Amino acid sequence: MNLVLLGPPGSGKGTQGERLRDDLDLPYYATGDILRAAVRDETELGRTAKEYMDRGDLVPDDVIVGVIAERIDSAEAADGFILDGFPRTVPQAEALDAKLAELGRALTGVLLIDVSDDEVVRRLGGRRTCEENGHVFHVEFNPPEREGVCDIDGSPLIVRDDDKPEVIRNRLTTYHGKTEPLVGHYDRLSLLRRIDGVASPDEVADAISRTLATLRMEADEAV
Ligand SMILES: [Zn+2]
Repeated sequence: MNLVLLGPPGSGKGTQGERLRDDLDLPYYATGDILRAAVRDETELGRTAKEYMDRGDLVPDDVIVGVIAERIDSAEAADGFILDGFPRTVPQAEALDAKLAELGRALTGVLLIDVSDDEVVRRLGGRRTCEENGHVFHVEFNPPEREGVCDIDGSPLIVRDDDKPEVIRNRLTTYHGKTEPLVGHYDRLSLLRRIDGVASPDEVADAISRTLATLRMEADEAV
């Protein structure tokens, strides 16, 4: 099971990724984390990545693919992996495909957790954060007892800049601009599976399990 997870901010992708990691007993690679780990462990590629980061430059695709390949090519990922946060562009997807082919591997499937923009704005835009200690509430899903006041320490609740509707819309525009070509790429390779992300986390997890069962069957038939 070599999987890639795609989905907008607020889709619950991270939650589902962690559940998959536990259910399938596969390593879950959130790209930002493994890049930071490579830098911390001072692997050769980690040192290269750090040079770019220290200059404030983007780490080039081939370096990121190299860092991911180091992990994929290790014993922990022998049975598969779950990749989140990479690839973000078609060239990155192509670089990943090529690297996997070199390792004699291929993606089993790409799961797109689909949530409408309005739903993302509802989920993220309803968050209220306590000014003093960062406690998080939600006007709809987890409202404080008194509007605008933190239940725990009585501090005022504010809308963080990241949670302002116009900022969320901007992030979504960026997400769609980058992700849609990627969705097309994986669709052409018949790897893309859409999961309705609007249901409850348990229902989304069930839908993912059913999709994986189908992918497994198809993989077995192909052998
Ligand atoms: Zn608080």
